[in-house]
Amino acid sequence: MMKHPLKRIKKIWAFVTGFIRAKHYQKTTRLALLKHQTQAFNTFKSQTLSQSSYYQDYLDSPLTAFPVINKKIHMENFDRINTAGLSREKALEIAITSENTRDFTPSYGQYAVGLSSGTSGHRGLFVSSEIERSEWAGYMMAKALPHYYRSQRIAFFLRANNQLYESTQSLFIQYRFFDLMTELKTHINALEQYNPSILIAPASVLRNLCLLKPNIQPKKIIAVAEVLEEHDKQKISTFFGQKVHQIYQCTEGFLGISCAQGNLHLNEDNIIIEKQWIDKAQQRFSPIVTDLRRTTQPIVRYLLDDVLVEDITPCPCGSSHTRIKSIEGRKDDVLQLKNEANENVDIYSDFIRNTIVANCQHIDEYRVIQTHSDTLTIECTPYSSDNTQAITAGLNVLFNRLNVRQPQYRFQPYTAPNKGEKRRRVIRTFK
Ligand SMILES: [Zn+2]
Repeated sequence: MMKHPLKRIKKIWAFVTGFIRAKHYQKTTRLALLKHQTQAFNTFKSQTLSQSSYYQDYLDSPLTAFPVINKKIHMENFDRINTAGLSREKALEIAITSENTRDFTPSYGQYAVGLSSGTSGHRGLFVSSEIERSEWAGYMMAKALPHYYRSQRIAFFLRANNQLYESTQSLFIQYRFFDLMTELKTHINALEQYNPSILIAPASVLRNLCLLKPNIQPKKIIAVAEVLEEHDKQKISTFFGQKVHQIYQCTEGFLGISCAQGNLHLNEDNIIIEKQWIDKAQQRFSPIVTDLRRTTQPIVRYLLDDVLVEDITPCPCGSSHTRIKSIEGRKDDVLQLKNEANENVDIYSDFIRNTIVANCQHIDEYRVIQTHSDTLTIECTPYSSDNTQAITAGLNVLFNRLNVRQPQYRFQPYTAPNKGEKRRRVIRTFK
């Protein structure tokens, strides 16, 4: 019956190790956690980085001697960084086709490929092997499930599915992807029938779901992908009568999750986070991420554009993992365009960001501002006809798919935000 019993055993083992590690380091002391990180980094160097041609010169060096890179540098060197001989061009082609066809099953050999835009202007690729996905699933289950001995039904609302998320599916766990490319209200019937025990969605979607008043009884609500703002948190919490949890996951890894007290902690048993201070007095920093568990696409000293604010008061949950007060710097607005029936349709910033970076060959900065019900002012650098044409074409396809009327586009060169101001990619000034 089973074609590859050894492979299956390896996958189960990976799931179990991920699960155990997540449980083991939850209550450990800070000192033990740091010691674990040092040991895990040495293993990571000898087992994974030794296979990456980009890191050959650093194998005997401490972490602090490794270069700090960002998404642009990571993507430019993708072919040399990854340990599986994958080509960026081919991986991008597969990921973009998946985005456009909404079929997220195609893979690159045994590797699943995903695309993300994040907040920077560059396309990010995420590749993972089956073993990595199983381990991720075990780790995620241990951290996120309220009662992992009971069967669960996960409903996942997201812009794009990925085989990584599907890997949580097992005997006791059902998983269903709800595509945000389809209007939210059309999902309500299916959602009510499915009646998820765990509801996972971006904060703005959770808030909009509350307005549609679905008849569901989830046991746990988890906000992902966007900043969870206090007023949204309260609305969602009131409607569902429970705490709203958060998962901080991006292309660069599964970085954090909220504890039983509802406070966000970094997953420092799996990742090392160095701080690039923005404002030390206010505990505000950008994270430099080293992921100790990624083997296909190593993430080493990778600077994110996110802005985190640390909460230095110990959490009542007893965790020694860094506690985060808030994630800033991803504060985009939701745009509103009209459909043929003249109703407002919410356009999530994630769609806009992803469309722009997926369509432009070279774009460093951009901003989309909805200044009127049917007008978008779009700024970009380089301000070239290649970019304006690519953005126009990409957005037209997006709006067509979302069944909204095409707005007018006004292009202009990008203007940097004032110092200290948060960078927002997608803004709605029109109320
Ligand atoms: Zn806590």
